[in-house]
Amino acid sequence: MAAADVIVIGGGCTGASAAFWLASRHGQKVVLLDRGTVGGGPTGRSSGIVRMHYSYAPLVQLALRSREVFANFDAVVGGSADFKKTGFLLLAPRGQEGTVEANVALQRSLGGDTTVMDSKAIADLDARLRTDDVGAGAYEPDSGYADGYATATAFAAAARRHGAEVRENTPAVRLVVEDSRIAGVEIPTGRITAGAVLVAAGPWTRGLLSPLGIDLPIRTTRHQVVLFEVPESVAPLGFVLVDLGTGFYLRPDVGCQFHGGSVEEYPDEEVSADAFNEGADFEFVEGMARRMAHRMPAFEGVGVKGGYASLYDVTPDWQPVLGQVPDRAGLFVAAGFSGHGFKLSPAIGETLAGLIVTGRYGEIDLGPFRPSRFAEGALIHSPYAHGIVG
Ligand SMILES: Cc1cc2nc3c(=O)[nH]c(=O)nc-3n(C[C@H](O)[C@H](O)[C@H](O)COP(=O)(O)OP(=O)(O)OC[C@H]3O[C@@H](n4cnc5c(N)ncnc54)[C@H](O)[C@@H]3O)c2cc1C
Repeated sequence: MAAADVIVIGGGCTGASAAFWLASRHGQKVVLLDRGTVGGGPTGRSSGIVRMHYSYAPLVQLALRSREVFANFDAVVGGSADFKKTGFLLLAPRGQEGTVEANVALQRSLGGDTTVMDSKAIADLDARLRTDDVGAGAYEPDSGYADGYATATAFAAAARRHGAEVRENTPAVRLVVEDSRIAGVEIPTGRITAGAVLVAAGPWTRGLLSPLGIDLPIRTTRHQVVLFEVPESVAPLGFVLVDLGTGFYLRPDVGCQFHGGSVEEYPDEEVSADAFNEGADFEFVEGMARRMAHRMPAFEGVGVKGGYASLYDVTPDWQPVLGQVPDRAGLFVAAGFSGHGFKLSPAIGETLAGLIVTGRYGEIDLGPFRPSRFAEGALIHSPYAHGIVG
């Protein structure tokens, strides 16, 4: 029977980050399990947008700290998350100017570099943007995007350098609880004992916890992405754009390519995490092209290079479930990221590692994200119509 201090279940960006911080900062003997490969789940399909614009202070703190790690990845972690600092622009429709201003003030009070933009400032950034239906914008010069797969594998490699054991193709079959305390994890070849277990298994988290009588309200939904390409005669998009009025995002990629996705909620897209359509629907691609052409008429008729779909693990308030599982000492959870967990993963791993080892949160209090908040009715509501924006 193998033994560890902490077993982390799930080698996405969240679990790999936690494994890194547990091993490197806290000297824990860590086993990181993935039923497939590190970064092979939704993390590897992430659009990877890194922004600080949130409406809730702990989310801003997590985003700011994470951006700092992304921007200094080699020095802090080792290796590369492939972070590209492009700037980030959020456009909100008329009527939401007050929310944009309040959020910008919040970010600035916590150390973020961001400004409210009127139509003129938006046009100065890119004169091709249509602004007649925009109430206000918020711009962050330091934000951009990184790569999900690169991030998860770099965290896992760094964890391994600090002594962690990374076991791919090794599913956690069952959580072992004895006397209301976690005792370890069963894998197909036996049992690994441990004093603490972090379940960071994305859409599969609910299924791992339910045999213990713990039912977290995490739904699995399908989320599509389309890859566009502008011809060489058209300047490509220079920054990440989230357009709340039409409900989509665009993210630059290599050369003249960029990714497009929706920030709208598709409740009818609930799927099985183990069997879903991984392609992009023609209707979705057409809809994205229409929305993009509305905001950026110069992009009308750009080429479509491809598309795919992956999974969101969505909670009722579109915020993650983080922390100690009640009445199961040593059992922790980090899941339900609702389509915006990539950008937070460096700081979530760091903060949860501290909680697991010391029993306390440090600078960032993740208490409001506790698993019991749903039963308590203490949901975290975004002032925006799109919960994913936070
Ligand atoms: C298309 C798309 C675009 C996105 N764009 C953005 C974005 O721009 N910005 C942003 O911040 N977020 C974005 N997100 C969300 C973000 O990517 C996710 O929130 C984040 O990757 C979740 O990481 P995770 O490590 O929590 O979970 P996952 O990536 O889901 O990883 C969970 C891992 O657990 C493993 N696992 C499952 N069950 C078991 C088991 N029993 N035993 C062992 N291992 C197990 C899986 O194999 C998987 O590797 C996007 C997501 C998608 C799908």
